Amino acid sequence: MRSFHLLLAAAVAACAPATACFAQQPAHNVILFVADGLRPGMINDQTTPALAALLSNGVHFTNTHSMFPTFTMANAASMASGHKIGDTGEFSNTINAGFTVPGAGDSLTPFLESDPVLGDVDGHFAGDHLNQDTVMKSARAAGISTASIGKLGPTLIFDHTERSGEQTIVIDDSTGRPGGIPLSEAMKQRLQAAGVEPQAPTRGANAKAGDFQTPGTLEANAQQQDYFVAVATKVVLPLFKERAKPFMLVFWSRDPDGTQHNQGDSLNRLVPGINGPTSLAAMRNADNDLSALLAALRALGLEGTTDVIVTADHGFATVSKESATSFAATQSYKDVVAHHLPVGFVAIDIAHGLGKTLLDPDAKYQEVATGSHSLRGNGLVGGDQLHPEVVVAANGGSDLVYVPSGDQGLARKVIEILATQDYVSGLFVSDDLGPIPGTLPISAIDLKGSAVTPIPAIVVNFRTFSTGCADPLTCTVEVADTGLQQGQGMHGTFSRADTIILGGAIGPDFRKQFIDPAPTSNADIGKTMAAILRVQIRDTGTLVGRVLTEAMPNGKMPEWTVSRQASQPDAGGRRTLVQVQHVGEIRYFDAAGYPGRTVGLGGPESQQHASQ
Ligand SMILES: [Zn+2]
Repeated sequence: MRSFHLLLAAAVAACAPATACFAQQPAHNVILFVADGLRPGMINDQTTPALAALLSNGVHFTNTHSMFPTFTMANAASMASGHKIGDTGEFSNTINAGFTVPGAGDSLTPFLESDPVLGDVDGHFAGDHLNQDTVMKSARAAGISTASIGKLGPTLIFDHTERSGEQTIVIDDSTGRPGGIPLSEAMKQRLQAAGVEPQAPTRGANAKAGDFQTPGTLEANAQQQDYFVAVATKVVLPLFKERAKPFMLVFWSRDPDGTQHNQGDSLNRLVPGINGPTSLAAMRNADNDLSALLAALRALGLEGTTDVIVTADHGFATVSKESATSFAATQSYKDVVAHHLPVGFVAIDIAHGLGKTLLDPDAKYQEVATGSHSLRGNGLVGGDQLHPEVVVAANGGSDLVYVPSGDQGLARKVIEILATQDYVSGLFVSDDLGPIPGTLPISAIDLKGSAVTPIPAIVVNFRTFSTGCADPLTCTVEVADTGLQQGQGMHGTFSRADTIILGGAIGPDFRKQFIDPAPTSNADIGKTMAAILRVQIRDTGTLVGRVLTEAMPNGKMPEWTVSRQASQPDAGGRRTLVQVQHVGEIRYFDAAGYPGRTVGLGGPESQQHASQ
């Protein structure tokens, strides 16, 4: 009797926040389609017809949010778990892991888009560096069929602790290659029977980033993604249909992200930037993949029982490498345009400002000599390889700075160096360092939670501006700490151009022809998938997303408010501002930075939105 009451209580609790309660029907299937770096302002009938049709026939989320730092792994972890970055500890694509990572060449600052690196980091943090069960892991445990297919890194994070290939099917760039997640014997046989190779193709010409004199790629990532589509449509979906039980499939399209980064349409010019023909071809490529998945659902008779959710991990912008204040930009380098910022400029500027040595964790900890930069922009400032005073993890539109000793005086010196740079727009500082004028605590942007990975001392957001088009969010430019050139593409800032993302859903659990103007985020995507699949997840931390019930039949539109928080001014009068939307206790961050240096940071001080 007691257990019955507990079960009943749990069922009621699960339904309570939602007018749509799933208890009486069998769970539907879920496909999460991620078009990496696809800006919502670029969706139209010509470039992306399948996405445009899905948004008009199903639910169109118009008030979407990437997690800041607006990078792939950070957002993949939030979608995968339903938790924000403060809980997952996936602070960016490149983090200070706090130990030398074998899969990253013994670097202290691994790039996480790697299956071996994710395995190493999990191993170091008690088997799960997110410290949180993912939706897919919980779904698998509940007997739901699971597969994750696409771009290396985010694909594995959805069920990263299952590396055998026997349970969740993982297909990424490394499939059939050293370091990849193995294929089960059954999968190998099915691939062969369907005429699909057991090894994923490389990106080929799409991987060409070019250099300061040579334009990058002019090709979308079609060949590799055609392979992923073939695996999904010819093997995985038919297998899941055969099993006749609910499934969860993630398809992570590297396009348009990879192509927008590398495109050679605009070398050293800000226009067309990421709006040239190569980037448009990449958007079309992602759209073709979605179209093929939807066609397979129809052909298999799964359309009526499958919910398809579409999102992007982050927005995108064109890269600027210009600064009038950076010491690093005054030096000359053999592979950088004169007076442009080299990759690693933050590490160089901090080392110069502190008068300390700079070591490169990605080049056997060699000293970075004057007139050179570290390989990937990461750097250890002062101290030695084992005891660096400052660690810089370079990422793109924002960087992470760590002060392992927790020395507040040192952190303040680094903040003084950064705050006077024209490329900075806002600084966020670990709460443990106490209030520091000109900065906001990381808890103000939900970066403080149950994370077990090292906590950044300072999150540095870079400046953004618009080149002046009708929708500034489609022609934003950002200073970026990257080896890519001015005119290529990047993301990672706290501008609205990087936080606003594609958002849509269609299927039996969603309304038809419905525009949802309420704030949504990638953490909400995780919680919504869990609700549809009816899997219970044990939450380690409290920084959770919400189930997007208003987008479901009979769901009620939530109320939300907008507010802005400002730091105390620093000695130069600079304040870090953040613009936030609130649904109950849940916060959505639109944009942040110094006034005038972040696209989308503006508008009225506070605004009330009534529910519809
Ligand atoms: Zn990217």
